[in-house]
Amino acid sequence: MAGITLNKIRKSYGELQVIHDIDIDIASGEFLVLVGPSGCGKSTLLRMIAGLEDITGGELAIGGATVNTLSPAERNIAMVFQDYALYPHMTVEDNMSFGLKMRGATSDEIGRRVENAANVLKIKDFLKRRPAQLSGGQRQRVAMGRAIVREPAAFLFDEPLSNLDASLRVEMRLEIAKLHNRMKATTVYVTHDQVEAMTLADRIAVMNAGVVEQIGKPLDLYRKPASLFVARFIGSPT
Ligand code: ADP
Ligand code: MG
Repeated sequence: MAGITLNKIRKSYGELQVIHDIDIDIASGEFLVLVGPSGCGKSTLLRMIAGLEDITGGELAIGGATVNTLSPAERNIAMVFQDYALYPHMTVEDNMSFGLKMRGATSDEIGRRVENAANVLKIKDFLKRRPAQLSGGQRQRVAMGRAIVREPAAFLFDEPLSNLDASLRVEMRLEIAKLHNRMKATTVYVTHDQVEAMTLADRIAVMNAGVVEQIGKPLDLYRKPASLFVARFIGSPT
């Protein structure tokens, strides 16, 4: 696993600057949660880390090496999306192994990794099904499995549970916590859900209009919010 360093990271779409000089040092193995209102730049930041979006300015380093100009594949970072982004025409197994095949892994290696991930995520019984034959929670597990088999340097999650109903969301949150305890993977996790943020995070970064308002341990933010804005997100329930 590798740490991720954001040094004065900026993003503009034409004239519109949406990320302003963000500095965050994410330790190897850390679980960092990003929260903030819709449109504040959370997804843009994740997409820049993943390499899905050009970085307008600043330096992004993974494991100590600058990666600004590297392709997503070269960065070896796995991203899990809210809508799962599974290939509808492929079985669960093929969804999970496709990326490894593209990278030239042997079928033994692919088989080993898929079996491991399927065990961890409890999806062994439906490896031959297609996404349409799965529940929302099962699809989310497959999306996570596809990330795990890559054995990436870090995981990025963009509101992965927001399409699930409340009870499934709780179950998957516990699964993600377990998975993190087991894998100790560097993780950046975007959520709207205060409980998810408080229970999963080593640290929480509260974003507002393209800047980080405050970053710290969940209880420190809860007890000592730096502003009303932070208090609204993390502080005592309103
Ligand atoms: P969040 O994920 O926090 O809801 P986003 O990162 O999606 O926010 O968006 C941040 C800002 O950037 C918003 O104002 C959004 O409209 C703008 N934005 C995002 N993607 C694009 C794009 N491809 N072109 C222009 N503006 C964009
Ligand atoms: Mg978003």
